[in-house]
Amino acid sequence: MGVIKALDQSVVNKIAAGEIIIAPANALKEMLENSIDAGSTNIQVVAKDGGIKVLQISDNGSGVMKDDLPILCQRFTTSKLSTFEDLGSLNTYGFRGEALASISHIAHLSILTKTKDSPCAWACHYSQGKLVPAKAGESPGPKPIAGKNGTQITVENLFYNFSSRLKSLKSSNEEFIKILEVVQKYAIHTANVGFSVKKLGESHNSLTIRESQNIKERIRAVYSSSVANNIIPIESQDMAEIGLKEVNGQISNLNYNANKKKAQVVFFINNRLVDCDPLKKSLLNIYSAYLPKGAKPFVYLSLSINPAQLDVNIHPTKKEVRFLHEEEIIDFVCQIVQSALSNVDDSRTFRAVR
Ligand code: ADP
Ligand code: MG
Repeated sequence: MGVIKALDQSVVNKIAAGEIIIAPANALKEMLENSIDAGSTNIQVVAKDGGIKVLQISDNGSGVMKDDLPILCQRFTTSKLSTFEDLGSLNTYGFRGEALASISHIAHLSILTKTKDSPCAWACHYSQGKLVPAKAGESPGPKPIAGKNGTQITVENLFYNFSSRLKSLKSSNEEFIKILEVVQKYAIHTANVGFSVKKLGESHNSLTIRESQNIKERIRAVYSSSVANNIIPIESQDMAEIGLKEVNGQISNLNYNANKKKAQVVFFINNRLVDCDPLKKSLLNIYSAYLPKGAKPFVYLSLSINPAQLDVNIHPTKKEVRFLHEEEIIDFVCQIVQSALSNVDDSRTFRAVR
């Protein structure tokens, strides 16, 4: 008799979920992107115990229609993609319809949502991808309830059924900081949307960004006045040969030489928050030629690359992207940064020692 057998569906789902949601910050990122995709202009995040006990996100976006609620947490159900080819022209963060499903396999998920055309809001609870009753004996369907337009999703007891993952998490405080950092980065990148983050039960917010704040004010609120006062805008158009459509961003000038443990680097490529280590390394190299030893810059860059040469689907958390002409694109971005740093009109003179 052979030894290979099919895994139980619930095991498959849990394993898949564990690849996408490694810590509360991954769940938060997915839900934040959903709120932005839904056209929200205000997004509030509340966390208890670093998001492990409670992670709640409320938005004023489109809401979910009542008829969609029964399949909301089923795997591969999405309103954003219908053919494989659509992947090449996406302008939403989501596309796989996996996030809420995953979360529902490793946590208790509940939703309160209202579209502008619905006379009331609807509340329901999910477990293992399916609607479940709020209390034993009740029916599982969406319940009508008073509420505002938009969506509130509450995730409770993350990894309650995944003890090894629960044990591998950092302290509540560290998990909270990871959540905060995700929201901070989206707050820098997403104009015209207000954000707040707070620990449950505390009266003050850990982050408040108003919808009307411009990028400089956002950088000031998130990072510091000294970054905001020493910022240079980066803007460049079309390098069609290498498929780079646009580079935008804000980088610190050479007067900003804060002694930080690590550089503050935020990259979005085609609107996705990514790590791009080769680009980061090259940029830090440029700065290190000018800045005093130990000083670290602030860099926020948003690249827009021809979607046809970008593969966004190589990583379960979508954290990495692959693209064609990577070296040429990195070289080009480095040139822009280099010349922006050299052109700054200030009294400081410097000499490159490369
Ligand atoms: P994806 O974002 O890849 O489509 P998700 O599992 O993240 O998959 O979400 C499934 C669907 O639920 C989305 O396609 C969207 O229609 C709906 N949805 C999720 N969150 C929200 C929200 N905050 N507001 C409105 N609709 C939402
Ligand atoms: Mg999504």
